[in-house]
Amino acid sequence: TPRVFSGIKPSGGLTLGNYLGAIKRFVDWQDAGTHETIYCVVDLHAITVWQEPAVLHAATREVAAGFIASGIDPVKSILFNQSQVSAHAELGWIFSCVARVGWMNRMTQFKDKAGANAEKVSLGLYAYPALMASDILLYHATHVPVGEDQKQHVELTRDIAQKFNHDYKVDFFPETAPVIEGPATRVMNLRDGTKKMSKSGESDMERINMTDDAATIAKKFKKARTDPEPLPETLDGLKDRPEAKNLVDIYAGLSGLSAEQVITEYAGAGWGKFKPALAELAVEKLGPISTEMARLMADPAEIDRILAHGADQAREIAQPILDETYRIVGMVGR
Ligand code: ATP
Ligand code: MG
Repeated sequence: TPRVFSGIKPSGGLTLGNYLGAIKRFVDWQDAGTHETIYCVVDLHAITVWQEPAVLHAATREVAAGFIASGIDPVKSILFNQSQVSAHAELGWIFSCVARVGWMNRMTQFKDKAGANAEKVSLGLYAYPALMASDILLYHATHVPVGEDQKQHVELTRDIAQKFNHDYKVDFFPETAPVIEGPATRVMNLRDGTKKMSKSGESDMERINMTDDAATIAKKFKKARTDPEPLPETLDGLKDRPEAKNLVDIYAGLSGLSAEQVITEYAGAGWGKFKPALAELAVEKLGPISTEMARLMADPAEIDRILAHGADQAREIAQPILDETYRIVGMVGR
């Protein structure tokens, strides 16, 4: 069976962006049953920027709980944390010898994250797309559901696979494609419609956390930046209105309606009407998930057991692929 792989970093609490752009899609792939689904809490990626060890430890369990509470079933999908399967780091090294420095230099996310401080960030932050390629290709995964912001990295994965196959004259790693689906593939920051919502963003007011309570969600949407105009009569009217478009897309993502249907329903409505409706919808959808997350996190031993079991299953797939890679490369002993 063809495989789907994707991951989320335990670099903070999960956001509505992670939910709509990634986790909800992961559940769709799992439930479709057409592919073997492998989902990973990518803790090795998280430490590309500084993480307090105790905070990283807790966030890893929280992301795992977020997956399960959202509908990832550890019986139907493989769910594990990256550092428990050492093959990721091993193949990541080989891929960092395949990838070119020039390729990394083109990664817009690195430029965004490093900002003016590119000399001071970790080498890992720079090289991380090579590790990400190993996460995916270690399972010969062909489909990678991600948000819009990860498109470039998944395309780089394809380039790495092609160069490996070409250099070693093999047809070993498959072609991989990003799958970017749904009405909310790039949820924007609530305070600045030009930036994406991120779990590592500076201010808590710029994002909805999956664990926010009803009052906090209502307050954040109420304070979300918008222009003064009411909602337009047609989808076209959202052009050049990034904040308005974002809130409509979020509504669509949460409700299962298309953005067009949302506009039809709320044509001409002011923010005083739309924002409370959006908050109510978000609470309705996220409330049960955060309640379930809290229940799961109260029993960390159970989460750890699920992750350890998932890691066993992941290793079973990954190890033969890593062994064969070493053999192709010419290493003695495999
Ligand atoms: P960080 O700020 O630490 O990078 P993040 O919120 O960007 O955190 P990641 O762990 O980098 O989260 O990404 C996990 C998944 O969530 C990826 O598939 C990514 O594309 C998706 N994602 C992240 N932010 C958004 C967003 N604002 N809208 C849609 N999808 C998103
Ligand atoms: Mg990110």
